[in-house]
Amino acid sequence: MIPVEEARAFVLTGSVRLHPKGVPLNDVLGCATSVPLDAPEDVPPFDNTAMDGYAVRAADTAGASSSKPVRLEVAGLLPAGAPPSFDVTPGHAVRIMTGAAMPPGADAVVMVEETEAEDDGGVLIRMQVAPGDAVRRAGSDVSAGERVFDPQTVIKPAHLGVLASLGFVRVPVYPRARVGVISTGDELVEGGGPLAPGQIRESNREMLLALVEQANCTPVDLGLVRDDKDEIAEVFERGAAECDALISSGGVSMGDFDLVKVVLDEIGEMRWMQIAIKPAKPFAFGLIGPNRTPVFGLPGNPVSSLVSFELFARPALRQMMGHADIDRPRVRAVTDTDLRRVADGKIHYLRVTGHFGNDGRYHVAPVGAQGSHQLAATASADALVALPDGPGVGKGSNVDALLLI
Ligand code: AMP
Ligand code: MG
Repeated sequence: MIPVEEARAFVLTGSVRLHPKGVPLNDVLGCATSVPLDAPEDVPPFDNTAMDGYAVRAADTAGASSSKPVRLEVAGLLPAGAPPSFDVTPGHAVRIMTGAAMPPGADAVVMVEETEAEDDGGVLIRMQVAPGDAVRRAGSDVSAGERVFDPQTVIKPAHLGVLASLGFVRVPVYPRARVGVISTGDELVEGGGPLAPGQIRESNREMLLALVEQANCTPVDLGLVRDDKDEIAEVFERGAAECDALISSGGVSMGDFDLVKVVLDEIGEMRWMQIAIKPAKPFAFGLIGPNRTPVFGLPGNPVSSLVSFELFARPALRQMMGHADIDRPRVRAVTDTDLRRVADGKIHYLRVTGHFGNDGRYHVAPVGAQGSHQLAATASADALVALPDGPGVGKGSNVDALLLI
């Protein structure tokens, strides 16, 4: 058995970054930028009003109050989007709506609530304003030439808004990895319908395709293949040509029909590992085909598949997609129950539920069943707790938890 860190390091070494490219703005959510992004223009592009009201020369409002308003002549109306076509000369104001460009001559805005329009084309100003009041300056959000985002910024919704505000149509990012998912096993059946004796329903593919998508990759369903050498070779070769990475489940352990192993050894350079962890001890990683496509061979047991994906495949895929932070968040948690185990030379990854308590700490407790086939219990897990080799720990102890959020 090899330590988990060794397996992780091996996988990360073989998972090289994808080539950056310009991707349309509406398709970069969750991607990492590949170069620094500088602002090509000012945002906002011109001085404009932050409020509905009257654009004025601040000096004209000197001494104005509700008991002693100042009267100004209204020179016109400026809705948002209109060119600022009026000059505000002394003694004049322009009715203006939020977002409209400041007209020449005006240097402040009086909010409409502090004014009263008169029937004869005048307005009473009930408040004294200073130059710049309620004016949003050109470039006050972002100024032209400014560095907006560093390389490896992971694009969130607000980043999309900023990029749109600057006129970006394409964004230089590391693209989403196209990840093919393959299930193998003669016992597996897809879809509904009755099960013949010995058959079970195929479940890993749905779960792994979703995990791949949540990791911000593009999932590619490569289907279910029989325990047949030619079928297995065909799907892996096709997948390696079409995808940036492949994930298979099943056929990597010690069974007599583990033909995935036979085939992958023929078409690639694989390393078959026994990792000192439970679940997910058997695992394979290697590069296959002319493109040296990374292949993650996950164990078939559903819980093992999930844990193996989280520990090895997900960080590697994030690295391929240029993320600086490739791991799920890790917290120091407190266990609300005893976590007993037997010493067996392995780290145990317990599936736990978790919540933040009133003490501000993250509290965990194991989901009921911990067997590697018991996916239903694992489905309610919020985190994986890494329990080091030994007899386990008592209630109230600190443990390391990898948050599955
Ligand atoms: P294997 O790694 O092929 O020896 O499979 C280990 C266990 O996982 C066996 O009980 C398989 O039936 C089960 N298994 C393998 N692949 C899947 C799958 N795609 N969906 C559900 N169970 C699976
Ligand atoms: Mg199998």
